[in-house]
Amino acid sequence: MEFLSLRLPVFFLLSVLIAKAPFGDAWGKEGHIMACKIAEPYLTEKTLKAVVDLLPETAGGELSTICPWADTVRFRYRWSSPLHYINTPGVCNYKYSRDCHNSHGEAGMCVAGAINNYTNQLYGYGNPSNQYNLTESLMFLAHFVGDIHQPLHVGFQDDEGGNTIIVHWYRRKTNLHHVWDSSIIETAMRDYYDNDLDTMVEGIKLNITGGWAEDVDNWQNCQNKRATCANDYAEESIKLACDYAYKDAEQNSTLEDDYFFTRLPTVKKRIAQAGLRLALILNRIFDSENSQQIQSY
Ligand SMILES: [Zn+2]
Repeated sequence: MEFLSLRLPVFFLLSVLIAKAPFGDAWGKEGHIMACKIAEPYLTEKTLKAVVDLLPETAGGELSTICPWADTVRFRYRWSSPLHYINTPGVCNYKYSRDCHNSHGEAGMCVAGAINNYTNQLYGYGNPSNQYNLTESLMFLAHFVGDIHQPLHVGFQDDEGGNTIIVHWYRRKTNLHHVWDSSIIETAMRDYYDNDLDTMVEGIKLNITGGWAEDVDNWQNCQNKRATCANDYAEESIKLACDYAYKDAEQNSTLEDDYFFTRLPTVKKRIAQAGLRLALILNRIFDSENSQQIQSY
């Protein structure tokens, strides 16, 4: 919602810093910022030091400020556009070898491949022979871990992850992808969190230590400790896309209270998972000794 930029100084500043984010195709700015704000307190001291060292000056030492950045360079770095999502051939499952490629068929050019690639680049931190711009690697990684948790970023090829499914969100015409990027979050912020992003983040954190506490250990399970579990996250997303996002959301349908109330818990949980898993990945990269489990507050 545009008025948020006017009402909240933090959004105003961000929208100046991160000007002209293209519309669509990513958790909205709010979703990315929230996931990264959830990650921040879980970074170990050593990890935080490396992260702050890599962040650009404009970030003021705060990871969350750079998390929407990748959306602003989709056109400058055209090759990066397919790295925000995965398309499946209309099925509710995901296979890296079948689905993780760009439109030219180049393997690895999808959000799961990008997470693994930027993670590997960041392992070169502190190595004099590193040849990558690790500031950009960090900014991409922090963004893509958010994207892969948005269920419709792992959606069907035919409808471009819900982008071509036109719906009404209450009385406003939009598309299904945008509902999941932004509308559900914005409506929740307005109705429950006084239009304040930090208040919503606090609400999600309470669930992490409360209602979801027993699940949280499972969120951290990852077979491949050196890389990431990006493939698992993608598989979760396409399942959620089928069970929640696409369900009851046909072309030209109107989505309102029923849809909102039953989908909001999923949106909040995916933001929480994105945050915790980003912290886990960063701790593994920068502080391998203390990275086995996410530290509690
Ligand atoms: Zn994105």
